[in-house]
Amino acid sequence: MSTISIPFNSPYSTGNEWHYIQDAYKEGKLAADGKYTSKCQEFFEKKYGFGKVYLTHSCTHALEMAALLMDLKPEDEVIVPSYTYVSTANAFALRGCKIVFVDSLPDYPGIDPNLLPQLINDKTRAIIAVHYGGLACDMEQIMAITRKHKLFLVEDAAAAINGFYIDPNKKRQPLGTFGHFATFSFHETKNISCGEGGMLVVNDPEFISKADEVWNRGTNRKAFNAGNKNKYEWVSLGSAFAPSEINAAWLWAQLEQIETIQQNRKVIWLWLKNNLPNLLEEYEIEWMKIPSHAEHNYHLFYGLVKNFKQRDELIKILKQKGILAVFHYQGLHTSPYYLSLENPIQKLVQAEKYSDRLIRFPLFANLNTEDLSQRMQ
Ligand SMILES: *Cc1c(COP(=O)(O)O)cnc(C)c1O
Repeated sequence: MSTISIPFNSPYSTGNEWHYIQDAYKEGKLAADGKYTSKCQEFFEKKYGFGKVYLTHSCTHALEMAALLMDLKPEDEVIVPSYTYVSTANAFALRGCKIVFVDSLPDYPGIDPNLLPQLINDKTRAIIAVHYGGLACDMEQIMAITRKHKLFLVEDAAAAINGFYIDPNKKRQPLGTFGHFATFSFHETKNISCGEGGMLVVNDPEFISKADEVWNRGTNRKAFNAGNKNKYEWVSLGSAFAPSEINAAWLWAQLEQIETIQQNRKVIWLWLKNNLPNLLEEYEIEWMKIPSHAEHNYHLFYGLVKNFKQRDELIKILKQKGILAVFHYQGLHTSPYYLSLENPIQKLVQAEKYSDRLIRFPLFANLNTEDLSQRMQ
């Protein structure tokens, strides 16, 4: 076995993280909702025009918060792409909802909006639009459908920080500003990270006071601290969704340098785009395409090999050269848990294609492309 010299991902540090964590300690408050939590939340509200932002422990938690805020009940149906991370479906399955899977587009893994109308019925409450790999879904088409059927729209923008949607008039709008709710991840594999972290964006102001309660373990702590309530009580369902100031301090150091981090990733992404097709020519890989309605965020670089056998071979050969490439999502409609619920077997051609054939190459802010290039020869 050779050792891995070029990992798939390596967490990036600006160097200031340690300083801000010490400062958080000096502030005398390490629990949630202190100085650094506010700094991070305000950063997003100002820079991207998000509604109200709540830091969470993960995007998974942010999705669970959204499910609580929508007050989903066991008979409700939620439409979710099959080709996504487990949490996109699990957060709603936790509330007992029926998960209805939609297939992806042939030329990129986002939801195929044309398939949505036939999946909607009286029980449908929400559509979860995943901006796969930071590539925008077709928001015009999806929003026309959620508006027509009066459904909730949740953007699972886990990997989509600093990604934009370009509308037919060429106007650019940040991902995370479309849905009633949007969720993001700061897991170490995402562009901006604090190890494990995430946030919920609440764009519909009607849900803000409820979100304050759900975020605060189902209590009215926020209103009580503001002097608006004379008792601190259990008022709704909720959980300990708010992360500590230690996480927020780490995150703040990254947010301060988001432009640098994005620029580094852009240089590496462009290098991969310009060089991998030559270096891996013999595999006849179909390289990722950026949809015309998306300004992406250099989150990932992928290709489609011919079949999963060839993918295993390529992963093995790269590993021998010390490079770690990976595949990822396996369509959730074929997952052991979903099938254990006695759901009928479905064929979702595109989700199965991406599950079998998609390969992701290393991409992180301080990847050494010279080393990668030499090892690939
Ligand atoms: C990474 C990811 C998640 C999970 O994020 P966590 O912060 O690890 O919970 C959810 N959905 C999508 C689309 C993701 O890429």
